[in-house]
Amino acid sequence: MYRQCEMPSPLGHGVAALAAGWAVAGIAPEPHARIRQVAILVAIGLTPDLDLLIGRHSMESHSIGAAVLVASLAAWQRWPVGSSRLVIWIAVALAWCSHPILDALGSDTSAPLGVMALWPFSSAHLHTGWDVFGPISRRYWLDNFWTINLTSIAREVVILAPIAVAAWLFRRSDSSTKDGREAQRRGPSWKRRSSVPRRLL
Ligand SMILES: [Zn+2]
Repeated sequence: MYRQCEMPSPLGHGVAALAAGWAVAGIAPEPHARIRQVAILVAIGLTPDLDLLIGRHSMESHSIGAAVLVASLAAWQRWPVGSSRLVIWIAVALAWCSHPILDALGSDTSAPLGVMALWPFSSAHLHTGWDVFGPISRRYWLDNFWTINLTSIAREVVILAPIAVAAWLFRRSDSSTKDGREAQRRGPSWKRRSSVPRRLL
C-alpha cells in the first residue's frame, strides 16, 4: 500500500528523538561519546519511515511493539546511548515512540489516517486530528512544494527546538553534580561492550 508522505520532516523527527533520549539518558560526558549518542538517537528518530521502502508506511514500525523490540536490542547490545541497560532501554523506547507520536500529531489526509501505534495489540490507525505539525510534500513538481515544506519545517523548529534545548540544558547540569562527575569518571560505561572488560581488569 502506498500513502502520500504527509507527516513531520526528518529534521523534526530527529530533534524529537534527541530530546526524548537526552531527557532520559542525560548528555554523554565526553565529545566522542556525545557525537555517537546524538547520531544514534537521531537515527532512531528517522528509522520508522524506512517502512516507505517496503510499502507498509505508518504501520508496524510506527508502534509501541517496534519500540519495545528496538529498545530491547539496544539494551542487550549496550548501544552507547546511556549509562546502564535500563537507561538505554527507556531512552531508545521513548526516542522511537517520539516518531509515531509526532506523526499522530501531524497533518494527515491519506486514509487510513494516523499510525498503527498500538501494534501488536491492535492494528487500528490512530490520529489526533490536531494538525500540530504541517504536511511535508514530496510532490516536487508542484509550485507550492517549497512553500509548504519550509513552512512546516519552520513550525517544527519553533515547537521542537525549545524542547530539545531544554532537555540539553536540564541534563547538562548533571555533569556539575556528584553523580555527573562519577558518570564522567566511569566513561567506559558509555562505550560499547567491547571496552567494558578493560574497565573490569
Ligand atoms: Zn513516520
